[in-house]
Amino acid sequence: MIDLPENCDLVIIGGGITGAGIFHETARMGLKVVLLEQHDFAWGTSSRSSKLIHGGLRYLKEGHVLLTRDAVKERERLLREAPGLVRPIPFVLPIYKDRGPGRWTLQAGLSVYDLLAQKRRHRRLAPEEVVAQVPFIERKDLLGGYEFWDAQVDDARLVLRLIREGRQAGGMARNYTVVQTIERDAQGMVRGVALQDVETQACADIEASAVINATGCWAECLHPQVHAQRHMRPLRGSHLFFPHTVLPVQCAVSFTHPEDQRPVFVIPWEAAVLVGTTDLDHTPDLALEPTITRAEADYLLAGARALFPSLGLSLNQCLAAQAGLRPVISSNSERAPSEESREHDIWVDNGLVTIAGGKLTTYRRVALDALKAAQPFLPGLEKIQPDAPGFETAELAPPVGAPEAETWQRLTGRYGQGAYAIVAGAKDEDLQCIPGTRTLWAELPFVAGESVRHLSDLMLRRVRIGLLLPEGGKAQLNRIGRLIRPVLGWNRRHWRREVKAYRNHWHQAHGFSWQTPVAGRLRRCFQWLKTHFGRRVSGPVA
Ligand SMILES: Cc1cc2nc3c(=O)[nH]c(=O)nc-3n(C[C@H](O)[C@H](O)[C@H](O)COP(=O)(O)OP(=O)(O)OC[C@H]3O[C@@H](n4cnc5c(N)ncnc54)[C@H](O)[C@@H]3O)c2cc1C
Repeated sequence: MIDLPENCDLVIIGGGITGAGIFHETARMGLKVVLLEQHDFAWGTSSRSSKLIHGGLRYLKEGHVLLTRDAVKERERLLREAPGLVRPIPFVLPIYKDRGPGRWTLQAGLSVYDLLAQKRRHRRLAPEEVVAQVPFIERKDLLGGYEFWDAQVDDARLVLRLIREGRQAGGMARNYTVVQTIERDAQGMVRGVALQDVETQACADIEASAVINATGCWAECLHPQVHAQRHMRPLRGSHLFFPHTVLPVQCAVSFTHPEDQRPVFVIPWEAAVLVGTTDLDHTPDLALEPTITRAEADYLLAGARALFPSLGLSLNQCLAAQAGLRPVISSNSERAPSEESREHDIWVDNGLVTIAGGKLTTYRRVALDALKAAQPFLPGLEKIQPDAPGFETAELAPPVGAPEAETWQRLTGRYGQGAYAIVAGAKDEDLQCIPGTRTLWAELPFVAGESVRHLSDLMLRRVRIGLLLPEGGKAQLNRIGRLIRPVLGWNRRHWRREVKAYRNHWHQAHGFSWQTPVAGRLRRCFQWLKTHFGRRVSGPVA
């Protein structure tokens, strides 16, 4: 038995940023809408991005001015409407002799970037200013650089906030529910979907006036592209997460990789630092969770080592890795992955709207375009208002006993009104951060109530401590269990089972599974010797 209505106006398939954005807009317009996600909300690419809300400076270089213009507008909107979730972040672009784009190319690109945002925010840096902003940066051949501003986000929390507010507006969203087929009538018009709860195996049908397929890289599994020449080309991008103590940067640094001159970056995020990203054709089965390969990890590490040669970075110091798939629509698989357009594509077929591509940043524009395409099948859909606010912007006053202003803003950015419930009745010790993160212990019982079915949902997407702490937060699991088990009704046996499944999953998807345990232990041993007895000890290649 599945708790779902028998019919609705719109079914959305896919609980990533695209599906969540459409869900949020439609529910607020008063339509009866149901969102279905086969794994957990944000399980796909939308929790595996570089976490930037950005105009995409490099898209300018490739001539995608409209994409950059839309993205810059959306960045400004999100900074205004969701402070605490979306925050400005300074970038430094170092310029080296005979490497990467020169001063005039950068100056021109950054001027257009500022023009699109109607704000002058970039400035030129002398070499010593670059070093002052990025203390351990390679100084050899450094000619200076530029500073500019973009924004960053907790990607999974953005998805979850849209789902939370869509539900509050009357929508229904269900995770761990796979859509198996799109149902049509004798004339070929869509009339609903057939679905299954992936854990209980219970099946059901829902009738709907329209269906939106927002399944990202999986879009063609449900409905092949209507243009024979254009197909989904999943491009894998991976990141490494380092502790801030190991890679101490205060601002993001964008630089060209010495091996292939691709732009890569180092970005402080939460209490860690991301090094990313790769851009490669993804050939493994799409049913399997994407993981970083040894070659990708070596490539990212080589880039970070070249930029910070004095830090002696190694893979042993890494907290976690993450790989995601860009849903890119391509008409030419010979083109270099980084040259593929990131614009979204929509195809419509008798009540079924399929949408793929796009960026996290432009999710709202993508959502409104999808709804425009679905409008002929949705008589109840009001006039779409692209200039209406995406989020209610009323400031939420901190209650008595609330944590300091920055933490309160962080809570309201992530949970909206839910921030009051987190703080109400929380013990003082639970209003402290989990060591090594900015997450409060008091957030855990609250997020456990956000459709969590498994421990990995909580550790990797409701909060991100599975990516920010060593070994996926293993050392904190006992206290986490004490806080969330009562909410989830998990007895000791159930908890032990969840911990085991989470740890296995973490090692497969976020650890470095191609390192054998023996080699891993050996590397850790050499690392320990290196830390305690200086740099003369050399270990196996990390
Ligand atoms: C490495 C990397 C870095 C990136 N960095 C940025 C960035 O910094 N800024 C930015 O703006 N963009 C970035 N992007 C792009 C952005 O992350 C993606 O374009 C966006 O997340 C795609 O969202 P989506 O909802 O379309 O797909 P997804 O997030 O993949 O969601 C699709 C969902 O559909 C579900 N699904 C599939 N089939 C079914 C089915 N039959 N039934 C039910 N559910 C189903 C999947 O499980 C999945 O959760 C990045 C992408 C990558 C790969």
